[in-house]
Amino acid sequence: MSATAVKILPNYINGAWVPSASSELLDVQNPATGEVLSQVPLSGANDVDQAVQAARAAFPGWKAKSTIERARWLFGFRQLLEESKDRLAECVTLEMGKTFPDARAEVERMIEMVECACAIPTTMQGRNLEGVATNVDAETIRQPVGVCAAITPFNFPAMVPMWFLPFAVATGNTFILKPSEQVPMTQQIVFELIDGLGLPPGVVNMVNGSRDVVNGILDHPGIDAVSFVGSAATAQYIYERAAAKKKRVQALGGAKNSMVVMPDAVMDKTADNIIGSAFGAAGQRCMAGSIVVAVGGAWPELAKELVPRTEALTVGDGMEQGTSVGPVVSCEARDRIRGMIDTALEQGATLAVDGREPGLPDAGAYVGPTIVQGVTDAMEIAREEVFGPVLSVVEVDTLADAIAFVNGSRYGNGTSIFTESGAAVRRYRHEVEVGMIGVNVGVAAPVAFFPFSGWKDSFLGDLHAHGTDGVDFFTRKKTVTSRWFSDGQTGKYFVEQGD
Ligand code: NAD
Repeated sequence: MSATAVKILPNYINGAWVPSASSELLDVQNPATGEVLSQVPLSGANDVDQAVQAARAAFPGWKAKSTIERARWLFGFRQLLEESKDRLAECVTLEMGKTFPDARAEVERMIEMVECACAIPTTMQGRNLEGVATNVDAETIRQPVGVCAAITPFNFPAMVPMWFLPFAVATGNTFILKPSEQVPMTQQIVFELIDGLGLPPGVVNMVNGSRDVVNGILDHPGIDAVSFVGSAATAQYIYERAAAKKKRVQALGGAKNSMVVMPDAVMDKTADNIIGSAFGAAGQRCMAGSIVVAVGGAWPELAKELVPRTEALTVGDGMEQGTSVGPVVSCEARDRIRGMIDTALEQGATLAVDGREPGLPDAGAYVGPTIVQGVTDAMEIAREEVFGPVLSVVEVDTLADAIAFVNGSRYGNGTSIFTESGAAVRRYRHEVEVGMIGVNVGVAAPVAFFPFSGWKDSFLGDLHAHGTDGVDFFTRKKTVTSRWFSDGQTGKYFVEQGD
């Protein structure tokens, strides 16, 4: 396909597809082949302003709808997503690279978010207490925050936008999405589906682009809350700039997740879990296990299981059947990942499996699964996020050493422990400074009805994404204290005690 023939993606504002005001375009490429799939406009503050005006105008009407009406809209949305699973998953694979089965699994998780938000007539309920004083009652109700915006990363083009959109809309907010400019096509399909659902114009909007759109969102006085998912550096920038403009913010950042393997772990099953965690989605998950912390001589036993399984993985186009590991998102990402492996070797690590040159055409962004052993605390690869199919191995003597290693990280997104000892699990769970923990589970990503509860530099804010935190983030509490002076029947006033 020639670059001149490809589609320029529109924005979706006020219930209509509109071209961006900006003429600056970025190619969207298939990372498996380098083919240009479409062009995404790098919209600016003007486009954001149009979306905000539409969302503000739609807000009072949408807020006034009954909760069950808003939930019914989600039922319809869920049905259309369900019917479009394959189309959505194909688009995820095409623009992001993960294998088609992995993309299907992502779409399933995306639909679960919408299903969970359908419970809003229950989950949005407030609290009340009769008799906080004599003849006085108090109740806390929840109301929507206003206009909410979400800025999302490349690695889950389908699911991550749905960590926010269904919860925001269900609770009565209006919404603006800024998808990743690297993978903007999947949300075009989602918004086509939304467009067919008869939602009042302005309730949901989408503005494509990169930094200018983000800055437009952060600075716009008409936006009340910002949700962000992406790298730690951007998360900090978003958190500070949005908070300075007095917005509510949740900013989910990067990760460096350790998998602690005790000597009593069931090694073959542990190896299977580690493979899925480290190399699934080519290591481009914020919950990917990136380091094995092998305790008390566990590494040689684990290596016997892990190394042959890793060598057996097939690298290729994610659309091809039998591919275990697809490309990473771009050739720039591939070169950066190879560079990090080379640096680790220069710093004294060695390779148990070398995937740097998987023998595929250079136009594809391929790095094969790689295991780096002999990694020490001081090396860059032990502490910085690689975001590629690279697993590092650190060896320590005791569980206490493992906990110290994990707690030494600036990140606190996810971690796993593999053992059959309940006592080791209990201690690990109690002492480790990480927000999501897997026990014999390689990818401990919470399902939709639990919060995505990263800690430290992996999360800035107070209320996490989805689960009950999602409802809390998208609502404001209002507490009403009431008293009635008469008895409700005769019109006589109560005689209050002390009168
Ligand atoms: P990224 O930070 O580069 O981009 C994320 C979003 O921010 C994009 O929409 C992008 O347009 C925008 N952006 C990027 N740089 C910006 C800047 N300087 N100013 C304003 N906006 C900017 O992240 P990515 O590469 O798309 O995604 C991968 C990262 O996301 C990894 O670090 C991964 O760990 C993280 N991630 C975290 C979670 C989590 O739940 N904590 C989930 C998924 C991904």
